[in-house]
Amino acid sequence: MMVSGRRLGIVAALALTGFLLGSIWYWDSSEPTVEWSVSSGAVGSKTRINLMIQDEGRGLRSVELALLQSGNRQNLVSEIYAPTWFWQQGEQQRSIGFSAETSVSEGALSEGELWLEVTARDQPNWWLWSRETFERRTFILDLTPPQIEVLSGQHYIRQGGSEAIRYRVSEDTVASGVQVGERFFRGAALSEQGMKGSLCLFALGHDQSSETSMWLWAEDAAGNRSRVSFWKKAFPVHFRSRRIPLSAPFIDKVVMEISDRTKPFVREETPLETFLKINGQLRQINHQQIEKISRDSIPRLLWDQAFLQLSNSQVESAFADHRDYYYQDKKVDEQTHLGFDLASVANSPVECGNDGIVIYADYLGIYGNCVLVDHGLGLLSLYGHLSQIEVQKGQPVERGQTLGRTGQTGLAGGDHLHFSIFLQGVQVNPLEWWDPRWVELHVLSKADTN
Ligand SMILES: [Zn+2]
Repeated sequence: MMVSGRRLGIVAALALTGFLLGSIWYWDSSEPTVEWSVSSGAVGSKTRINLMIQDEGRGLRSVELALLQSGNRQNLVSEIYAPTWFWQQGEQQRSIGFSAETSVSEGALSEGELWLEVTARDQPNWWLWSRETFERRTFILDLTPPQIEVLSGQHYIRQGGSEAIRYRVSEDTVASGVQVGERFFRGAALSEQGMKGSLCLFALGHDQSSETSMWLWAEDAAGNRSRVSFWKKAFPVHFRSRRIPLSAPFIDKVVMEISDRTKPFVREETPLETFLKINGQLRQINHQQIEKISRDSIPRLLWDQAFLQLSNSQVESAFADHRDYYYQDKKVDEQTHLGFDLASVANSPVECGNDGIVIYADYLGIYGNCVLVDHGLGLLSLYGHLSQIEVQKGQPVERGQTLGRTGQTGLAGGDHLHFSIFLQGVQVNPLEWWDPRWVELHVLSKADTN
């Protein structure tokens, strides 16, 4: 039987419509995209450059990555993916990591400019059209670590104490400082030109042994690091122990105030358990907060004489007291109290220890109402338990200027000032910073830029 012409026309029209719809559907108008984790600049042999190649349409058909240096071309990746049917989706993404390390060790790469070229093609559409993306990036391979020269001669440091070192680094250095065991301290250039060298204040924690290794390090933009040792002598210090009796009213006062003013804070079942949480966990959190705040410290010394001790004050604690806490004659906790408790008349004015800039002025957990002053190079002084704060964050302050009034906010049993000095988050002995001779010998003489 013959198919009528009219019917044939309908079939042809339907087929054409289907074909057109299909063409639009499978057109794939997107070309592959390439994302670079590092897209230019200095790279070291260990710098990892990650490429993310994606195609949102029908998927990737092929990916090539080539490395070029002084006329040599090396294919790093050359992949072709299986063709797909129109209703299928191919490889959507491919990530490739590159570091010069292997090529450098094989002698195939040397310092200087290099190029990475990526070519990505997507799966052809219904018309067998395929889209191609080509990108080329220039990098500078730097394999030379920065140079370091120590300028200051002697470095004496006590457990829980501070020290300064003066040194010079080559111009491509982006970061440098002193490593003390696990901790590192960042130094800063004394002048813009770098001719006068850099200064780094560093500390040996009260919790680190006098045998702790220390060295000076410098890093360039490509991540090359160098380290040198310097002359030093470290002294162990004996810290005393104290017994602190806890009374129920004291616990109640501390728990109520601190848990109300600290957000977020979850109370434990009993006041004693909540107190122990404040004395342990919150103490640690507060110190982490201070370390974080100190990262905004201005990278130069903001003062030129020794720190001032609160006038007419009596020192009620040694720098690092090991404290055993007793409740109803039972030992319930132990902590190291770092800093000084200075007692005077209640509501006494609190004088700023040295010139600087207020970097924090608010409630801070165990320290209650608290002011932190930045003295530069990561050196911060802390004034805690205040009844009143009379300065604002960002305000420049001078040695002896009133910051607020003493009180008993936070973890305090009576009206007193808690004074601490932090060096890049590590608590150090303020006695050294109060001593004009020590300050001159250990810091100012080394910072002198004349
Ligand atoms: Zn204290």
